[in-house]
Amino acid sequence: MTCLGIYDLIIIGGGPGGLTAGIYAMRAALKTVLVEMGAPGGQVNLSDSVENWPGDEHIGGSELSMRMYSHAQSYGLETRSDEVVAIEPGLDFHTVRLAGGECLQGHAVILATGGSPRKLEIPGEKELYGKGVSYCAVCDGFFFRNKTVAVVGGGDSAIEESLYLAKLAKQVHIVHRREQLRAGALLQQRAKAECKIEFVWNSVVTAIKADANGVCAVDLKNVQNGETRQLATDGIFIFIGFVPNDRLVPAGIRRNPEGYVITDEKCATTIPGIYVIGDLREKYARQIVVAAADGCTAALAAAHYVEARKAAQECELPESMKTSWAH
Ligand code: NAP
Repeated sequence: MTCLGIYDLIIIGGGPGGLTAGIYAMRAALKTVLVEMGAPGGQVNLSDSVENWPGDEHIGGSELSMRMYSHAQSYGLETRSDEVVAIEPGLDFHTVRLAGGECLQGHAVILATGGSPRKLEIPGEKELYGKGVSYCAVCDGFFFRNKTVAVVGGGDSAIEESLYLAKLAKQVHIVHRREQLRAGALLQQRAKAECKIEFVWNSVVTAIKADANGVCAVDLKNVQNGETRQLATDGIFIFIGFVPNDRLVPAGIRRNPEGYVITDEKCATTIPGIYVIGDLREKYARQIVVAAADGCTAALAAAHYVEARKAAQECELPESMKTSWAH
């Protein structure tokens, strides 16, 4: 296995948390690399408009991502476009294995891999993905101009994306399993005032149907009275929350029953030198601003940790071998 470099800090994931960690790490003079296999920004890229990033009343998700990325690059942050397949904790260094068989080594690692859309796990969902089933209105909404779509979910994502779809589609049916939305009050008000949006309360989608052109209907079940019916629709957008991308979390790190990593206030895990930030970390609010705050906290904590490790290692060396640590 070829080791491509030894770093003070390796950041895995280039969303708002990872990029903020990169900014703070570079400002703390840590030799840092950020590894990301997709475009910088992560899930934020899928947002048409971000309205709660302080300082910007409205900003496109991809624009915000690019601004964070440019900001991190202005400090000379090294970035690698690569897939990480494993993190192996070690005593002196943690090893980050890459898909090509090489590895990186770091005193500290910040894991910022976020989450992925939760699936309904119903007949038709997998088979019709890309043929009318979607998890991203900004990516696929364009294909549904003047058509009818169904949206599943009652959280911020479902409502925000429904408002976006209402600008393009003829009609948006929001199918929600309860009679109250989970989304914030402002989004609820806007959705209820949008004449193209119709709510289908107390209902779940049990199957997705297709004809030769792709999705053509969904089967609905009313969870209160058990009644079933079919709703004609050209597409279905599913926003029922996220599941943490926890594949890389090393064994031995404490997680909650849903897979989110439990950290302390420094975003430190139960393995020294490994930090978890953003949507992968157990927390109250999954917001861009919170992910960014996590990135700041973890980078500052990692800087302190790396400095202490180096000082300890220096003390262990015989006098003749003591040098300043070169980056
Ligand atoms: P969420 O808040 O967890 O909401 C998920 C919704 O899907 C809930 O309404 C839930 O119903 C429903 N649901 C879950 N599993 C379901 C199932 N199997 N079948 C049918 N319905 C199901 O997820 P989210 O909207 O993706 O938001 C994730 C996080 O990101 C939240 O913390 C949210 O505040 C944040 N976020 C914020 C913004 C913003 O501030 N602008 C935008 C997007 C996301 P119940 O309500 O009955 O549980």
